[in-house]
Amino acid sequence: MKIAFKEILDKRQEQGLFRQMLQVESQPLPRVKVEGKSVINLCSNNYLGLACDSRLKEASIQAVRKFGVGSTASRLVCGNLSIHKELEERIARFKKTEAALVFSSGYMANLGIISSLVGREDFVFSDKLNHASIVDGIILSRASVKRYPHKDMVALERFLESLNDNGKKLIITDTVFSMDGDVAPLEKMVEISERYGCSFMVDEAHATGVFGPNGEGLVSHLGLMDKVDIRMGTLSKAIGAHGAYVCASKDLIDFLINFCRPFIYTTGLPVSIAAASIKAIDIIEKEPQLRERLWNNVNFFKNAISSIGLNTLESSSPIIPILVNDANIVMKFSKLLFDEGIFIQGIRPPTVSEGKSRLRITITAIHTKEDLELALEKIKKIARKLCLI
Ligand code: PMP
Repeated sequence: MKIAFKEILDKRQEQGLFRQMLQVESQPLPRVKVEGKSVINLCSNNYLGLACDSRLKEASIQAVRKFGVGSTASRLVCGNLSIHKELEERIARFKKTEAALVFSSGYMANLGIISSLVGREDFVFSDKLNHASIVDGIILSRASVKRYPHKDMVALERFLESLNDNGKKLIITDTVFSMDGDVAPLEKMVEISERYGCSFMVDEAHATGVFGPNGEGLVSHLGLMDKVDIRMGTLSKAIGAHGAYVCASKDLIDFLINFCRPFIYTTGLPVSIAAASIKAIDIIEKEPQLRERLWNNVNFFKNAISSIGLNTLESSSPIIPILVNDANIVMKFSKLLFDEGIFIQGIRPPTVSEGKSRLRITITAIHTKEDLELALEKIKKIARKLCLI
């Protein structure tokens, strides 16, 4: 039997779940041109505004002049350029860890790390709201998985207590959850992982550049650097470039170089990206004012949106959801905002669970007060029109 694409897509349309891509035609500034219209962008992960920083652009151009465009092969063949080593050493210094390894994307990093660390005889304990790349990494590993309810440490302990098996045990969590914007109870998780002899892995994609004394992430913010075995993160959000990294012991990094297929069988990260990432980390360390500006904007926006009476769940990061529940209404909300010059995407199942559709707002350091005030005014106007407040 052939696959009935058209039928499947028609059904998606009926359910209000059909996905389409909008075209962005300008730089990632607070105001962008989307499908020919100038709008305020409140949905990018460019938390510190570094994706369009002239210093990152210049670093990329210089690297291309020196090394060319592509890395030409996988790292283990001839695609391991000196700038890759420089980037990995820079990341390790930034995160105060023994070693680091970069990947082509966060998705590949999670797929690769998880599937090489655990296998058929092992067990993974994963938060129900962990990113899709973690979910897929676990599937690829073939390990048994226990998905505990979001941040429910009692349920996590119950799973661990009931397990009388000798397999390896790995606990995994996002530190900042990508769709809810809340944070994982890391201190408790460290305690549990130590008590039950588990390895502990975190995904700092949305925490890097945002939390921590120098922007290192939530683990550093809580002083848990020596207590977390594997710290993964991306170079594509606050760092403003592309790709991902893992920070861990030298032994674990050597293990990945030997066994991690999504690292071994793919071309090395482009040099332009490596150079931009190094520059971004320098800036993040040297310019705490960027983080200050980000948090001022986040606090201003969050207070204002809560006072309107909209539900922002337990967000405590630059990711601010507005829970709407119904998928069709959320898409209508997003469309009406777009017509008024505000770009905020609706998030629907299967990205979030049934009945939990929401607008996902992301605040950056480069939004002006005027941008945010205008967005708030329009959100309020449309929420009223849709009878949400
Ligand atoms: N982890 C988390 C928590 C994410 O939000 C994302 C994607 N935004 C990824 C991993 C995947 O990263 P990438 O986009 O680099 O593939």
